[in-house]
Amino acid sequence: WSKETIAIVTGSNKGLGYGIAKELAKQGVTVVLTARNEKRGLDAQKNLFNEGLTNVLFHQLDISHSESISKFSTWLNEKYGGLDILVNNAAILHVDTIRDYQAAKECLEINYFGTKRMIEAMLPLLKASPTGARIVNVSSEYGRLQWLTDESLKEHCSTLSTEDQIDALAQRFLKDVKEVTDGRMEKRGWAIEYPYYQVSKLCLNAYTRYLAAHLMDLSQGYKVFVNCLCPGIIQTDMTLQEEKLLPGGVAPDTMDEGVDTPVWLALHPIGGPTGLFFYKRKVIEF
Ligand code: NDP
Repeated sequence: WSKETIAIVTGSNKGLGYGIAKELAKQGVTVVLTARNEKRGLDAQKNLFNEGLTNVLFHQLDISHSESISKFSTWLNEKYGGLDILVNNAAILHVDTIRDYQAAKECLEINYFGTKRMIEAMLPLLKASPTGARIVNVSSEYGRLQWLTDESLKEHCSTLSTEDQIDALAQRFLKDVKEVTDGRMEKRGWAIEYPYYQVSKLCLNAYTRYLAAHLMDLSQGYKVFVNCLCPGIIQTDMTLQEEKLLPGGVAPDTMDEGVDTPVWLALHPIGGPTGLFFYKRKVIEF
């Protein structure tokens, strides 16, 4: 890999995003480390620089703010005129299961709608990649259909094939959060462990499938491959907030293991898989 290959990693000031940015930089590609907080991002970039990774740049990026995405997009276009790898890693997890519309909205807004807006903004630049491009969506096993508690909802979610349908599902969920007064989301068939997070990742997975199919349908001579993955359970600030996720305080997977599949997908030869869901480099069911 050469520094001509440009990779963007969202939410890469810490956790898995930082690990992914570091590994991509080690492989020799130019990495744009992004963070919503400028100081945290610059500190992370400095750490990588001190480890000898001088091929890492920093730019502010908050995926829940359209203006921030737009500024980032303009900067990237002026600097490189395109990009080759987009790793959508930024996300939040709310561990409370009580009904909290604002928390649910924020979670969907960042994990699904924000990621989608980021992809939409980057697509023209990805299409400009001379070698073909890859989008890697860092999702979760918690977003799988099997967690839904109602068979007809499961069936409905497995057939979502347009952007409007996926957006409508996200809105239907938010409406239910507002309406269900005792916090028992299973009454409406939703996942119950971490409903906001699980539905946000379910929507992201459905969008991955839709986008891959949509991009394959377009015969404009460019190639963009898009996949999603579960990194395993890794000790980060996200999992540290919930004892249940780290039984006995120990994560089942190491940071190296968590970083492996996203980096493998990011650097996968063009012509490889698209529209699939991976765990430890193997395809799993949505
Ligand atoms: P962390 O909480 O450690 O890191 C999340 C990152 O996302 C931070 O850099 C955070 O920034 C950033 N972020 C949050 N909101 C935004 C936003 N609006 N715009 C830009 N950046 C934002 O989590 P992990 O590293 O554990 O998680 C990374 C990804 O891996 C997520 O998609 C998560 O769902 C997924 N995942 C993680 C698992 C695990 O075991 N850790 C398991 C399964 C999936 P800030 O520092 O400013 O908060």
